[in-house]
Amino acid sequence: MKNMRNRVYEANLLLPEYGLVVGTQGNVSGMDRRRGIIYIKPSGVPYEKMKPADIVGIDVNGNVIEGKLKPSVDWVHHAFIYAHMKDVCGVVHTHSPYATAFAAAGIPVPCLSTGQADVFGGEIPITDYVDNRADGIGREILKHKRNGCPAVILGKHGVFSFDASPEKAVFAALMVEYFAKINLFAILMGQAKGINVEPMTLPEIEKWYKRYHGGGYGQK
Ligand SMILES: [Zn+2]
Repeated sequence: MKNMRNRVYEANLLLPEYGLVVGTQGNVSGMDRRRGIIYIKPSGVPYEKMKPADIVGIDVNGNVIEGKLKPSVDWVHHAFIYAHMKDVCGVVHTHSPYATAFAAAGIPVPCLSTGQADVFGGEIPITDYVDNRADGIGREILKHKRNGCPAVILGKHGVFSFDASPEKAVFAALMVEYFAKINLFAILMGQAKGINVEPMTLPEIEKWYKRYHGGGYGQK
């Protein structure tokens, strides 16, 4: 079994591979809860030059425990999420373009199709704008997150996703971008036809979400 440092390294490489980041933007972290160590991308290191040993291990106060480099400047927000969501062991931050279009417009990603109902159980909520000082971003995420939905849109900024592992959090970040893209086109196509594209109804969303999350369907 791979250790958390290598898993976080590989999860970070998925961000450029999936087209979710440009340059040195974006970051993935993973927490080894047993040892209390958060592994996170180093600050300002290009993905193509990053090595597994560059991943930084910090404690919840940002003290470097493993590694030689400085952690991502976003470590504060990651650490806040781990401190306040005890079942989370993976956090991702991106400025992926379609999702960030919703962030820029100040609009949550509405639930317009069954695939989004499956994964997110409804719309992907959006926070108010906050600057990156202290724990403002973390508090805003806590305030706006919805149970069962592993992501939020950060107003005027981008995306945070959080789940039980770094791999799952990367999947959630990818899905946020995927549905933001679909929904943007759906909304624009609706507007071109003079149609107000409506979200799915809550009972329908719930049905899909429960089935996807194993509510009595599938094989034993
Ligand atoms: Zn950012």
